[in-house]
Amino acid sequence: MNLNELTIKTASAGLRKKEFSAVELTEACLAKIKKRNKTLNAFITVAEDEALADATAADKKINNNSNLLAGIPFGVKDAICVAGMRATGAAKILDNYTAPYEATVIKKIRSAGGIIIGKNNCDAFGHGASNENSMYGPVRNPVDETKVAGGSSGGSAAAVADHECIYAVAEDTGGSIRQPASFCGVAGLRPSYGRNSRYGIMPMASSLDTVGPMAKTVEDLALIMEVIAGHDPKDATTVTDAVPAYTEELEKSVKGMTVGVPVEYFNVKGIDPEVEKIIDAKIDALKKLGCKIVSVSLPHTKYAIAAYYILVPSEDSSNLGRLDGVRYGVRAKTKNLFDLYAESRAAGFPEEVKRRILIGTYALSAGYYDAYYKKAQKVRTLIKRDFDEVFKKVDALITPTSPFPAFGLGEKAGDPLALYLSDIFVSPAAVAGVPALSVPAGVTKAGLPVGAQLIGPRMGESVILRLGHHLEINQ
Ligand code: GLN
Repeated sequence: MNLNELTIKTASAGLRKKEFSAVELTEACLAKIKKRNKTLNAFITVAEDEALADATAADKKINNNSNLLAGIPFGVKDAICVAGMRATGAAKILDNYTAPYEATVIKKIRSAGGIIIGKNNCDAFGHGASNENSMYGPVRNPVDETKVAGGSSGGSAAAVADHECIYAVAEDTGGSIRQPASFCGVAGLRPSYGRNSRYGIMPMASSLDTVGPMAKTVEDLALIMEVIAGHDPKDATTVTDAVPAYTEELEKSVKGMTVGVPVEYFNVKGIDPEVEKIIDAKIDALKKLGCKIVSVSLPHTKYAIAAYYILVPSEDSSNLGRLDGVRYGVRAKTKNLFDLYAESRAAGFPEEVKRRILIGTYALSAGYYDAYYKKAQKVRTLIKRDFDEVFKKVDALITPTSPFPAFGLGEKAGDPLALYLSDIFVSPAAVAGVPALSVPAGVTKAGLPVGAQLIGPRMGESVILRLGHHLEINQ
């Protein structure tokens, strides 16, 4: 096995026993990136020199008491800031931007000895479900290069699946970690809103944005969460609850747990029967592990996409206002101020970002605020209540992550509504602020990965990680 194919768990064991060095592990990942980046396009920036310098430093320090992330190379979504490193958010308006400060989650991993190998491609500022909205080109799916990697964290998912890094840190506003994880066959966790600090993340929709890990196993996700979760004085939305020992929780039995199967996520129009079959098999697996399976209903699920695509563009239009060619990034050369704004933004944003700003500005305008934004907020409360009610009866929910496996590059590119609808199973948990995990569940006849989504109650990451881990080790 090549070193870059190891998991965090196995790589850290090898590092401690000095079977290989952090430099060798980093070199193995860099070699894979060099070989594959032209085709897959999973990285916008490769931090070769920084990574090798950090790995050399890590080798001097690693001992049996080191954190398990010490000496392990990881990728960072390009919408997350790393001090001194280029951060484009996959939009040309930030083509020349170097982050002057560091996201808290990244700072935490680096203090544990983690090694940043580069910045992963994504849909511009997180807008998309196929990674085709990147101004640095789309990401191809390593399993089938004619297919998309998913989005918006498609670069992170492809890089992990292709063993170009051991794991990745990404962002999920409405599915961006879970859907690409499902398309590429890796594990990805969207934590509860407020569990992990978003300080240093380029904001998209502030009331939904979360930061989470993507890795080869659920066990690795738990390891990463133990390092990155927790209160941050720099992010007032983070909770002060203690961070559980996620890795210990994983080992506990799932026998006697109650798992709900929401009727609204099955037998719906547009769901691929192969996906449904694969998820059904996982429901059976949970039964065999001693879980009680019950049918439940989340009646407002059908409104989640509509509410999401009002709330997100509205918050987007406000957050993206800071990118105007004046304060940072690329500035168009013009004769007057109006043209400076217009031309900088016209050239610096892809179509989808412009579409969101226009929709959001409209939804927030004085005449329409009550009809759209306020209404969407009310619907959001109803969706949240559905989850509150159902979690009185069950420990977790299981659903497909996506109604279909990875689709062809270009297949939905001209149809924004079709892309929005692909978020149908991932947006409800995001709107409600509850945690959700995508775990590899199987492959279709064509060999394309399918993910199962486990949704938990607020701050219930331990529960879904435990269920996901047991599904993974009892294949
Ligand atoms: N597909 C969603 C969107 O385009 C995902 C966004 C995200 O989670 N960053 O809004």
